[in-house]
Amino acid sequence: MPGGLIRKAISVRGVVQGVGFRPFVYRLAHEYGLTGWVLNHSGGVEIEVEGSAAALAAFVRDLEGKAPPLARVEGIEITDVPPVGSTTFEIRHSVAEEGRYQLISPDIATCPDCLRELLDPADRRYRYPFTNCTNCGPRFTIIADIPYDRPLTTMRDFVMCPQCQAEYDDPLDRRFHAQPNACPACGPHVWLVPSPQLETLKPKADDVIAQAARLLQAGAIVAIKGLGGFHLACDATDEAAVRTLRERKKRPAKPLAVMMATLEEVKQHCWVSEEEERLLTSPQCPIVLLQWRPESNISRLVAPRNNYLGVMLPYTPLHHILLRDVGRPLVMTSGNLSEEPIARDNDEALRRLAHLADYFLLHNRDIYARYDDSVWFVPYVSRFTFHPSSSNLKPGTLEPETALSQPIRRSRGYAPFPTKLPFKVRQILACGAELKNTFCVTRDEYAFLSQHIGDMENLETLEHFETTIELYKRLFRIEPEIIAYDMHPEYLATKYAKSQVSNLQSSVPIQHHHAHIAGCLADNGWSPDDGPVIGVAWDGTGYGTDGRIWGGEFLVADYRGFRRAGHLEYLPMPGGEAAIRAPYRLAIGYLYALTGRVPSLPSLDIGEAERRIIQQQVDRGINCPQTSAGGRLFDAVSALLGVRQRITYEAQAAVELEMAAQIPNLQSPISNGYPFGIEESEEGIVIRL
Ligand SMILES: [Zn+2]
Ligand SMILES: [Zn+2]
Repeated sequence: MPGGLIRKAISVRGVVQGVGFRPFVYRLAHEYGLTGWVLNHSGGVEIEVEGSAAALAAFVRDLEGKAPPLARVEGIEITDVPPVGSTTFEIRHSVAEEGRYQLISPDIATCPDCLRELLDPADRRYRYPFTNCTNCGPRFTIIADIPYDRPLTTMRDFVMCPQCQAEYDDPLDRRFHAQPNACPACGPHVWLVPSPQLETLKPKADDVIAQAARLLQAGAIVAIKGLGGFHLACDATDEAAVRTLRERKKRPAKPLAVMMATLEEVKQHCWVSEEEERLLTSPQCPIVLLQWRPESNISRLVAPRNNYLGVMLPYTPLHHILLRDVGRPLVMTSGNLSEEPIARDNDEALRRLAHLADYFLLHNRDIYARYDDSVWFVPYVSRFTFHPSSSNLKPGTLEPETALSQPIRRSRGYAPFPTKLPFKVRQILACGAELKNTFCVTRDEYAFLSQHIGDMENLETLEHFETTIELYKRLFRIEPEIIAYDMHPEYLATKYAKSQVSNLQSSVPIQHHHAHIAGCLADNGWSPDDGPVIGVAWDGTGYGTDGRIWGGEFLVADYRGFRRAGHLEYLPMPGGEAAIRAPYRLAIGYLYALTGRVPSLPSLDIGEAERRIIQQQVDRGINCPQTSAGGRLFDAVSALLGVRQRITYEAQAAVELEMAAQIPNLQSPISNGYPFGIEESEEGIVIRL
């Protein structure tokens, strides 16, 4: 046995594959003069190192402390093994093991090193739209199975050129084992085609990104294949182009996202706080809802009647090149017809988006998982102050420590990284609800929340939902023992759940708002031993245990169950779903139910016949469900105030009411409000309007 040497076997769990972890281990071992090996397997990274006790201690300390930026170490196990007298440190080939699983990195925005190469005319990757390295690029969207190695990704058909292969094989290179590594000589490429609807104007084959930029400058709508699907892009400052896009997409008013080339450009159009800047420039690079400057020349049609603009920075090399070439902000909205899932494949896009886009900027790196952009919002505790002298402060706000960033949509850059639960769970599939569906699968102490799936209102979205569930089950080696579903009997996700339950599984219906509150507990690491909480869930629609529509709920809840301690009083929804689309019906129904009459108001200027029908629906309870939803109260008030009578996207009346309520130059907060009653009843507390 070699004298003074010890050897340790180290097992590392977490996001440790495809993020440069093995080269990091390799460099670390060299730094401390250690021998042994490192290996990827389905469950994480295994290391054996041999050397002096002091060197090994330093190695272990740095393993977590100095891990690469995208790595997330979830656990390290160390055991002593007998020294074998190894003389080198090597990186061994990956092995797959039955039943083991690993965490998978989300796709990550282009890193500063890759961006520098992209913009350097002397670099061999100058303007190459698929430039990436172990610190950035596609991950989740190209993986079909684990372990994460090129043959199991959509890069499998691209054989690396000698230069790329040399980078890939060199443990000291930034591209060591970067599975999507590519260059103009060997990797995927882009091309531009006119819409099948528009057979003229064949684009030329040379610099197609520059051509696409010129078309966008001229007002064209271009479908652009990105990381997790297609975007529809147009010049955000071109009112006619934005209007055409809205008409074709059948999306009259719902806000569209905008991409801008640089942070400096964002600041010309929006107020950006420190926290918002941090989010915009993070490796996740989400859309951030920013307060929109009045002097911005972006068309107001991009987000009508909205004080906010959803903005993101370029997150792929293709976006960086395109945005710089165009030289102005681009609308970048998901490539779909209203309500359908984002288009993913070239053929699918050419078919589904033919009527929407004038041109298609395509590429041949296939997308495995559809992946929408994430959206964040940074609310502030308003102090109602305004500092006109400081150009980068936004009205009505600003005390950074009061900011609490909120994900509005958690997708690209975040999924499929799990939420760590404060307890271990069995393998569960939770199917989620109807609107903005996400599902969740669990095993051990992890809850793998899916990326945004969409509104479960059509077959395309249902198919996306089903295939993504299969992907998560495969990637994380999960065979659910329990299937959980929303109590609402008509939800497609509920019907799917019921159709899937086998004899070996149990199924559990979950009340919608209990699920919201339990999710909140998990997010905040609330231990089951910490007892129940008062959970407040204000929402639009959630099926209640009494068969009525809940949504203004005060639940005393823990993970296991809840007691409905209080709720908004039940009020009528004349016409059911129709009342959600036409908030004036709610306004009339609420007024009539609460006061017994409907006064003549300019905001409720409808025909006498319709008014009578609505009153009859309330009187007789015909096609007139009862709801305690807070969302409906906002809708009714919005209609009463004349803000919004009919909606074309979910929550439009409430969104516009919120915008109308923001008064930038208000000197003191509004402290008075309408009175409301609190009534104790057998079923709990009822809040009377
Ligand atoms: Zn990079
Ligand atoms: Zn190459």
